Amino acid sequence: MAVPGNQPQPSENALTVALTQLRTAGRELGLADDLIEYLSKPQRVLQVNFPVKMDDGRVRMFEGYRVQHNFARGPAKGGIRFHPAVTMDEVIALAMWMTWKCAVLDLPYGGAKGGVVVDPRELSQAELERLTRRFTYEISAVIGPEVDIPGPDMNTNPQVMAWIMDTYSMHRGAMTPAVVTGKPLELGGSLGRNAATGRGLVYVLEEYARQKGINLAETTAVIQGFGNVGGAAARFLHELGVKVVGVGDISGALYDERGLNIPALLEHRDRHGVIEGFEGGEPITNEELLALPCDVLIPAALENQLTGANAGQVRAKLIVEGANGPTTPEADAIFRDRGIVVIPDILANAGGVTVSYFEWVQGLERYQWDEDEVNQRLRQKMVRALHEVMAVAEKDGLPYRQAAYALALRRVAEAVRLRGIFP
Ligand code: NAD
Repeated sequence: MAVPGNQPQPSENALTVALTQLRTAGRELGLADDLIEYLSKPQRVLQVNFPVKMDDGRVRMFEGYRVQHNFARGPAKGGIRFHPAVTMDEVIALAMWMTWKCAVLDLPYGGAKGGVVVDPRELSQAELERLTRRFTYEISAVIGPEVDIPGPDMNTNPQVMAWIMDTYSMHRGAMTPAVVTGKPLELGGSLGRNAATGRGLVYVLEEYARQKGINLAETTAVIQGFGNVGGAAARFLHELGVKVVGVGDISGALYDERGLNIPALLEHRDRHGVIEGFEGGEPITNEELLALPCDVLIPAALENQLTGANAGQVRAKLIVEGANGPTTPEADAIFRDRGIVVIPDILANAGGVTVSYFEWVQGLERYQWDEDEVNQRLRQKMVRALHEVMAVAEKDGLPYRQAAYALALRRVAEAVRLRGIFP
């Protein structure tokens, strides 16, 4: 689970980045200014301030948000994060990215996101449960299986999703599994959901390599972030024979040019929570990690990690974004000039929302698919989206991020056009 770091908070300009990306792509696509303006605004922003009774009897106030960016293509979908640095702007940016991500994958969803300003490490399990349930109650007027379906994000997990499902269900008077995804398996969670983002990222990378005639077993990778996304990506890459030469997390980073022992490192992380203290690999700094020579760099920790200040030092040939918004527009421009290819977040890390969509479908059907079926359908969706993005990139001569935005914006804009403006 991510914890606040000692680095500058990356969330500060997530919204600026998201808006710059939207406006650049919208103009390149020739979208009308009023449509770009329409898409630059979240349709609904809910801020809630709510009390939670702490274990010692005191009452503490918390602030939370649920942002629904766009409903043109379907109910809104997006995670809920618990983090002390959550801001409304950050949540709006993340909701906007969800709209594009769902459109790139052609899922019948719009984008949403939620967050509570809290450091969950300071709470007991009972306090965390009360906070989750009260927050769910506060946002229950705007969520629902046909309206807005939350899921996990930073510092929220299947147990938190189970509390959300239960709270919503108690108020509705009927168990409603499709109100939230990322649930425990026993409550209608989907097989394959946990590893889906890392797995989907690796499916994209595998297919990209196949298209470009790259033998992955002869490549090296560096991964920043060793949590749900980075850890799973490391595991699947290792299984494909990729040499993972560098890994970093909140506690530091490790380098081994012969390739780190990923299964042992994952075991160490599961036992200690972080990679610190692992016997193997040379300790390096986060800055050194991002500048390691490698074929593939996978930022899978936080926003704004690759910036105008460090993009010049990156020595990877290909960047595959596991995190949301890890690359600033300045860094993107530098990578383009230097011939470094970026496979963008709204494509590369969409495996999580894709299997969340599968979970929602299973919840509505009250039927569980087996894991092979989930993974096979995930591969199909990821590969198809990559092909579509590559086709746009080739046809319009665009980098993949712009191509993914073009694809997403076209789909959302077309849905808006067909539905018309009410009334
Ligand atoms: P996580 O909490 O499981 O892991 C985060 C990792 O980043 C941890 O290893 C943590 O130690 C590391 N980290 C935190 N702060 C750091 C810092 N300052 N420097 C270096 N490393 C740091 O979270 P996750 O679910 O793996 O999510 C990671 C990123 O991927 C986030 O941007 C998230 O929004 C995005 N994402 C996650 C999913 C998903 O399904 N989990 C889906 C799409 C996108």
